[in-house]
Amino acid sequence: MKANYLREGLLIVVSGPSGVGKGTVCSALRKKMPELTYSISATTRPPRESEVDGVNYFFKTVPEFKKMIQNDELIEWAQYVGNYYGTPRRFVEETLASGQDILLEIEVQGAMQVREKFPQGIFIFLVPPSFEDLKRRILNRGTETETSLAHRLDAATDELKQIERYDYVVINDEVEQACERIRAIITAEHCRKDRL
Ligand code: 5GP
Repeated sequence: MKANYLREGLLIVVSGPSGVGKGTVCSALRKKMPELTYSISATTRPPRESEVDGVNYFFKTVPEFKKMIQNDELIEWAQYVGNYYGTPRRFVEETLASGQDILLEIEVQGAMQVREKFPQGIFIFLVPPSFEDLKRRILNRGTETETSLAHRLDAATDELKQIERYDYVVINDEVEQACERIRAIITAEHCRKDRL
């Protein structure tokens, strides 16, 4: 067996219902694994107070976002609770080609589009310990209006049904542990004989 040191990086998708804590787990993971490159999404959602353009998201107007779709600049995109979200293509492709791993933190419709285009990707589904727990997390975030909360809970119910379509399921009972599990998955994937 001969190792191919020029192999592409791994495309790692972390998905799961809104409020499960994908953002928290992924930022903890990035601290633990600084070698992991993070894909910054484009969105038409207005920035939250602490969010910075080009760091958390690329904040776009609807016409700007639609232009990105038309120009095929996005690997995937989805409408989620009234806003558009999408993954810029070029950065992902360049990162993979350079041999670096890239992490995408996206909702489930988008994750399945990525699966079609990158079947070699690693698809990880983050789940809450219980639905009640998920509801509590969304409420605690305090950024939702009542309507938006109801939409997010409806979306989460549908999203949880997608579990079958993932390679791995990680329970987010505790951030540190969830992170360790994802790290273990990435390490194991690097050791797969068919990736050498
Ligand atoms: P939020 O508005 O809370 O930042 O994100 C809402 C949802 O959109 C979350 O589930 C988040 O993972 C997802 N999301 C963020 N970026 C993208 C993206 O580029 N594509 C897709 N499909 N979903 C995304």
